[in-house]
Amino acid sequence: MAMLKVGVISVQGAIFEHVEAVKSAAAELGLKDMQVVHVRRLNELDNVDGLVIPGGESTTIAKLLIKFKLYDRIKERVTDEDLPILGTCAGCITLATEGDLEVEKTDTKLLRLMDMRVKRNAFGRQRESFEADIKIEVKNKDFEEPYHAVFIRAPVIEKVWGKCRPLARLEDKIVLAKQGNLVAAAFHPELTDDLRVHKYFLEMV
Ligand code: GLN
Repeated sequence: MAMLKVGVISVQGAIFEHVEAVKSAAAELGLKDMQVVHVRRLNELDNVDGLVIPGGESTTIAKLLIKFKLYDRIKERVTDEDLPILGTCAGCITLATEGDLEVEKTDTKLLRLMDMRVKRNAFGRQRESFEADIKIEVKNKDFEEPYHAVFIRAPVIEKVWGKCRPLARLEDKIVLAKQGNLVAAAFHPELTDDLRVHKYFLEMV
């Protein structure tokens, strides 16, 4: 069998933590042959079987995706091949179809791949970064225990429609959603030792 390859969009943001998390999650799943590569150029996107869009600054990430011509190709690979993507924090924002006023004002071009509306920096200045236990609603023995999630200037998913499903909430706010092979997390699963979100994603690859 050909070696599976997971790409991490490496234009800006928490890149290395994701590379490490994907490697560790693959090891825990016994996927010894999985390769993790940085994706900055168009040709680096062509042979990946799954993609991570990390946290960082969504306006910058979106601009660089366009500049490096990754934007259209990501959309194409999702539409034509169902490419699995895990987007975290800023990555979650870029996957959305609709954003809030801040997305509009900053002219952030979302990938518009998931039927959801996001609100940037939704927890405001008082709660710029915090940690909280959430319950991930996936019917899988792995997710019976709560998940300790790290939020950093996090967005929330204000609403989902169509084929997009909420998977976890913090209070009444959606912080994890899934649509087909696309997973969007408002938090940072790469910043804890709990690899369940990465493993859940790798099972789609
Ligand atoms: N606040 C950032 C944005 O709006 C996201 C923060 C993060 O990725 N940690 O793009």
